[in-house]
Amino acid sequence: MKKEPIIPESRDPAFIEQVIKTPVGEKIPTCMQCGICAGSCPVSQEMDYSPRELVRMVQLGLKKEVLSSSTIWICTTCFSCSVRCPRGIHPTELMETLKPIAIAEGIKNRNVKFDNVFSDVIKTNGRASEFLLISKYSLTEPGMIKQLPFGLSMMVKGKLPLSIQRMENTRELEAIFNLGEKSREKK
Ligand code: SF4
Ligand code: SF4
Repeated sequence: MKKEPIIPESRDPAFIEQVIKTPVGEKIPTCMQCGICAGSCPVSQEMDYSPRELVRMVQLGLKKEVLSSSTIWICTTCFSCSVRCPRGIHPTELMETLKPIAIAEGIKNRNVKFDNVFSDVIKTNGRASEFLLISKYSLTEPGMIKQLPFGLSMMVKGKLPLSIQRMENTRELEAIFNLGEKSREKK
């Protein structure tokens, strides 16, 4: 993927301060760019910036590039990078810290849309449903129409069940989501 050149004017010192003040931010300045996190990451080839690059970009205060990056949304929170980092930096938690900041800044990209659709489906049903996920995401992402033949072939083969399973009682789940929303508002 072609990356835009990073110019000094895009650096934002206030963003560095903002991230360093968070519970995972203290050790970010100690990153030595060893690359163990990127080498351990099972999905780094799908990201626009590897975990190593993202940490460096935070060090440099590249707010716009960091918050609009697909990396924070593609991370599967597998924790491989966090347990292996020799400096005790936690890239996994950094990704989770950056997500609400990106949302608060109004950053919109297709990864944010998918995250929102996934959360809505879980909040409503208590369980993921591939059919609901794909249908709802397709409504927000017009490019998904190209995947229609693939989706239909999966349905024919019984790989995309139309039945939707729901939790009997989603009250506790709703309470968890509400707590998350409240803590996001506080930030
Ligand atoms: S493993 Fe840790 S020190 Fe090494 S590049 Fe990644 S964040 Fe930096
Ligand atoms: S937690 Fe995220 S960034 Fe870290 S190794 Fe796993 S997928 Fe990659």
